[in-house]
Amino acid sequence: MALDQAETLPSSGVKNLVIVGSGPAGYTAAIYAARANLAPLLITGFQDGGIPGGQLMTTTHVENFPGFPDGILGPDLMDRCRAQALRWGTRLVEADAEAIDLSQRPFRLQADGRTILAHAVILATGASANRLGLPQEERFWSHGISACAICDGATPQFRGEPVAVVGGGDSACEEAVYLTKYGSHVHLIVRGDKLRASAAMADRVLANPAITVHWNRQVADAIGAADWLEAILLRDSLTGGTEELAVKGLFYAIGHTPNTRLVRGQLDLDERGYLHTLPGRPETSVEGVYAAGDVADAEWRQGITAAGSGCQAALAAERWLSHHGLAVTTSREEVEPKEVGEPKRTAESTEANYDPEALWQKGSYALRKLYHDSTKPLLVVYTSPTCGPCHVLKPQLKRVLDELGGRAQGVEIDIEADQDIAVQAGVSGTPTVQLFFDKELKQQWRGVKQRSEFREAIEALIGVHA
Ligand SMILES: Cc1cc2nc3c(=O)[nH]c(=O)nc-3n(C[C@H](O)[C@H](O)[C@H](O)COP(=O)(O)OP(=O)(O)OC[C@H]3O[C@@H](n4cnc5c(N)ncnc54)[C@H](O)[C@@H]3O)c2cc1C
Repeated sequence: MALDQAETLPSSGVKNLVIVGSGPAGYTAAIYAARANLAPLLITGFQDGGIPGGQLMTTTHVENFPGFPDGILGPDLMDRCRAQALRWGTRLVEADAEAIDLSQRPFRLQADGRTILAHAVILATGASANRLGLPQEERFWSHGISACAICDGATPQFRGEPVAVVGGGDSACEEAVYLTKYGSHVHLIVRGDKLRASAAMADRVLANPAITVHWNRQVADAIGAADWLEAILLRDSLTGGTEELAVKGLFYAIGHTPNTRLVRGQLDLDERGYLHTLPGRPETSVEGVYAAGDVADAEWRQGITAAGSGCQAALAAERWLSHHGLAVTTSREEVEPKEVGEPKRTAESTEANYDPEALWQKGSYALRKLYHDSTKPLLVVYTSPTCGPCHVLKPQLKRVLDELGGRAQGVEIDIEADQDIAVQAGVSGTPTVQLFFDKELKQQWRGVKQRSEFREAIEALIGVHA
């Protein structure tokens, strides 16, 4: 059996419904459409406009999604959404949609080098929080730097500590006021000499003794000796001079960019580029095309609101398909599909359960044994429990190993549990993948890469030619 449950592109023909995007909106739409026997196809995305699983893959604790009284890690929540969508029969295409043509029916979508035809489409491509692109931004992302004060403000590390918000609009002001509940003091960093926020909002900020506005200042970098932000470097926009400001948190409120590039010129967008729909409705300006989640929501932008609108979009699509006699429903062999249960975790290998032939194992014991004894290429992936991209990458690597039918093996190292190994291997971030052969490091990758890159590197070592 394949190690990963995701399907490759299913057989051709016109699909009832294609959903683009795998955040809470996309997966919720998929769950509803799959339960309505529409056999939806979901294009998960890969690098364009986020990662599979969406924005919640980039955060740690989600404390405000109903149903999880003790909170849940963002990547774990999205793993569950994915499993639920798969359980009810959603097919996944693990790639970016490269082009969408809504000018003819059925609609045409390009993904994974193929053309997919669909009667109805749900766009759930989200919006990406704008970043400053600071030199040390990656290092302190989710370790002091956040794009969501409402989501992350209550994090223990910020309580009773000075924090900063960058931006001068309504969101920045709102976030600054919100953060006074948690931080000892809030610094609002404003590029110019006035706030762009509404007068009422600006007054609230200026009258609040817990907020200091730093006018004509730009954030030039993030500073910290260990793994948490300690200060920011501010540059005076007028004089160019710099100063350090001690803060434990830096919250970006510099706007979002909706991921609507593929449908620009085909669907009505608002002045900020968000998909235009009637308030509270999922229909876009083209019949049969629906919007769900942040891609059409400049205001609420939460996991639960995105999920709710995914539900609306799927129900609306189902009604429209039925009304036009377009839906070809599938019958389910099992009325109640098999339960998927709790997400499976690979057990740490020990002397007792170590298997020299296993495709995938975990921990330092397996790494040492395979490094010394195995004659096959060895992929080592360094992960950490809160690393969202690691959740995306691991199934991809397992799939490569599965496809190679035992000619290579893999080991997963949790850098929190096996810190010494991470230090020894020179790993400074997750995910990192190292490919060893004959006890030699052959190649190293940082971040999420296409499956084909790993496969080709392994095949080159074992002499397989495409
Ligand atoms: C750091 C951070 C922390 C947050 N914390 C919380 C929280 O605690 N609670 C909460 O409720 N909300 C939180 N949010 C907000 C929440 O993540 C979003 O509101 C929610 O994820 C929006 O869901 P969505 O499905 O609309 O879009 P997204 O989650 O943005 O998903 C968009 C999807 O579209 C895909 N995509 C984009 N372009 C393409 C393409 N061309 N082809 C195919 N796919 C594509 C992406 O890969 C992604 O899978 C947080 C946001 C951030 C950034």
